[in-house]
Amino acid sequence: MLSDRVQRIGFSSTLRISAKAGQMQREGIDVIDLSVGEPDFPTPSNIKDAAKRALDKNLTKYTANDGIPELRAAIAKKYRDECAADYKPDQVIVSTGAKQCLYNACIALLNKGDEVIIPAPYWVSYPHMVNLAKGSPVYVPTREANGFRMTIEELSRALSAKTKAIILNNPSNPTGAAYSPDQLLKIVDVCMEEGLIIIADEIYEKLIYDGFTLKSVASFGEKVRARSVVINGFSKSYSMTGWRLGWAVGPREIIEGMSKVQSHATSNATSIAQWAGVEALTGPQFEIGRMRQEFERRRNAALYRLNSIPHISCAKPEGAFYLFPNASWYFDKQFEGVPIRNSAGLAYFLLKHGHVALVPGEAFGADAFIRLSYATSMDNLEKALNRIAEALAKLKPTIVAKKGALNHTVTKVREFSELEESIPLELRDALVAEASSVMSYDSYHEWNANIGGVVLKLATNSPHLVDFWMDNWYPSPLESDLEPHGLLYGVKDAPGREPRAFYSSETRTALTFNTAFYPQLRALTLGLVDDIAGRMFDMFLIAGACVDVNGKGVALIAPPGSGGSTHLAALLRRPEARLHSYDGFFVRRVNGSMVADSVERKFLVRTDFAKHLSELEPLFDRSKLENIVTTRDGCELEGCPQYGDCPLDRGETHCYLASSRSVALLDPYWIGGNGKHVKRTVLSKVILLKRDTTAAKVQKPGVDAALRLIEEGGFTSDRGGYQSEPFYNPYQLVRTGDRMELVRRHWKSLLSAAPLVVINTGAMGPEEAKEAVWGEVLK
Ligand code: PMP
Repeated sequence: MLSDRVQRIGFSSTLRISAKAGQMQREGIDVIDLSVGEPDFPTPSNIKDAAKRALDKNLTKYTANDGIPELRAAIAKKYRDECAADYKPDQVIVSTGAKQCLYNACIALLNKGDEVIIPAPYWVSYPHMVNLAKGSPVYVPTREANGFRMTIEELSRALSAKTKAIILNNPSNPTGAAYSPDQLLKIVDVCMEEGLIIIADEIYEKLIYDGFTLKSVASFGEKVRARSVVINGFSKSYSMTGWRLGWAVGPREIIEGMSKVQSHATSNATSIAQWAGVEALTGPQFEIGRMRQEFERRRNAALYRLNSIPHISCAKPEGAFYLFPNASWYFDKQFEGVPIRNSAGLAYFLLKHGHVALVPGEAFGADAFIRLSYATSMDNLEKALNRIAEALAKLKPTIVAKKGALNHTVTKVREFSELEESIPLELRDALVAEASSVMSYDSYHEWNANIGGVVLKLATNSPHLVDFWMDNWYPSPLESDLEPHGLLYGVKDAPGREPRAFYSSETRTALTFNTAFYPQLRALTLGLVDDIAGRMFDMFLIAGACVDVNGKGVALIAPPGSGGSTHLAALLRRPEARLHSYDGFFVRRVNGSMVADSVERKFLVRTDFAKHLSELEPLFDRSKLENIVTTRDGCELEGCPQYGDCPLDRGETHCYLASSRSVALLDPYWIGGNGKHVKRTVLSKVILLKRDTTAAKVQKPGVDAALRLIEEGGFTSDRGGYQSEPFYNPYQLVRTGDRMELVRRHWKSLLSAAPLVVINTGAMGPEEAKEAVWGEVLK
């Protein structure tokens, strides 16, 4: 249901850790929370009083969209006083937190594909904001040895023709690192030369230590201001996180754009918070000084203690209220046999065995580190650091043999790209010419596969596609006099192209551009073979699973949500059942029988199938894998069954259940061993699973009614939204009248020989449904 870009947002480590910490606290465990991102001081009383006055005066109505004039004037004055910068009222916007300013700026500035440079470690929300605005984050890893400050060289290497903006967080969350005015100016100069827009997040500006001078990007003159959005807020300096109040200053055009975005999202920030903000900026400032001093004292004490812990190194941060030590020495150590493999594993261990909550560096794009916040009392800090030291001392070298590395590929495109069916001949020829020009000889692979007697040639410059293709299908001799029946092109790095697929039925040519997402190539392969086989061999595709019991084949058609995986797994557990196909097989009529052929050498299996058949996991470990989830941020599960006991938290390297897009090329002979897999069977029944709470439990329609039911189909397609797929076949590429008539004929002869049984999994409990399916299989 969710959009792709929202689906890509995983559970954040921060939320997970604090959820787990909260749960432990409720169980009575005294957890010290060092994961907090807000000062532990009350909002100064003069600021609270100003809000109360605003309430008393009934200043509780909508305000101007971009903030009350008094607050914008106070913000403009701040920049006049501190930066000699003259921002007019229409160059200032007040929003619901600095966070909203950042988000508004991304939406206002970015077009699809615009690159935004984000130095790493970065604040967790930047990449998501850029992605939500359809931009592309480009990370620039900075080095601990450079105090996490990006060098000019590092920045320059990341620039491309698509770079539009850079997010500069000074001082930084999570590292606390700050750029001196000189260092900052050098970076700013490069940005100006390159015509970038600077999005400066200066929210920690007032929290700097050791007399460090911090300059705002706003102080570098008119030219820089003309290309910079400077963002700040009240959360940290005035301990006002819950008031949700922040601001941005910048060129009129950008502020106006941000204001438009805001006007349609939230309108103005809370009126009384804005009046409190006026007092914060114009009233006495000594509370900031007190808080700053206390933070400095804690930073010094915590840093000293932290660096006394063996194998922990922590740079001295110039600002903010975080310490970001390198803890990677402890990765690969273990406690009671459970290995720590990454920052998430370490954070989980420290929570469970040290009762200290902190944030794994993975969340900030720097897995060697952990983030500790010292926005807690000195007492708490001392206690927490002692606990951390004690817990780390319990970690021992790993003795268990390390698991071999997975054979795993992560593809850039992780979904089906749009498919243009029945393209005209001229376009087909132009695309083939383009493919040939893009695939240079030194990256070119060609491989013929024999798929149920249909020979397809794959031509690709993607090592991943050819690798999976060769594993997926049986090879066909690559002889010069052998004309393939169909052609497939998998073209990567085609300049200026969006990921896309094309099909020309006349020439039996399918092409994909700029996607190495293997399920798409496989889907095209099945569609292409179906198209060719339907015309040449009177053979057709059933997009379902098939099991063989005592020589009788049963096709299992299960649209998403009908319980297909549950029932296939239950069938495979029956000693008599043998797996024929997992998803897709071809059927032909031979001497009056409907012969089903399993045409794949290895099956492309969704790894979350292991939820129903956990014995598959070690088999996946030995298989070729695509898009397995290896970090908690990558988890796409809504209600994770392992919530609170996430294997990735425990330091596992991957989770097979965390995404419906993770796949493995599994050798069917491995599932259940010898004799559990058959390549050919004769179909005696077709079972269609449906989930419907109103219809009968079991239906056995006659041939014509069954044909109508199957033809009607229904499928929530991966290609986007609900799509009614006739004949439950999402792979079918050609849907002309003639073709549909042919498919109808095929199905009719199938349903005459192998009757249809509809089992309504919505009208029964899961066990009853399993028995009903098995009963039908045996009949
Ligand atoms: N930027 C950074 C770097 C932050 O750490 C935070 C708060 N964690 C924000 C912005 C958001 O601040 P606000 O509360 O003003 O939305």
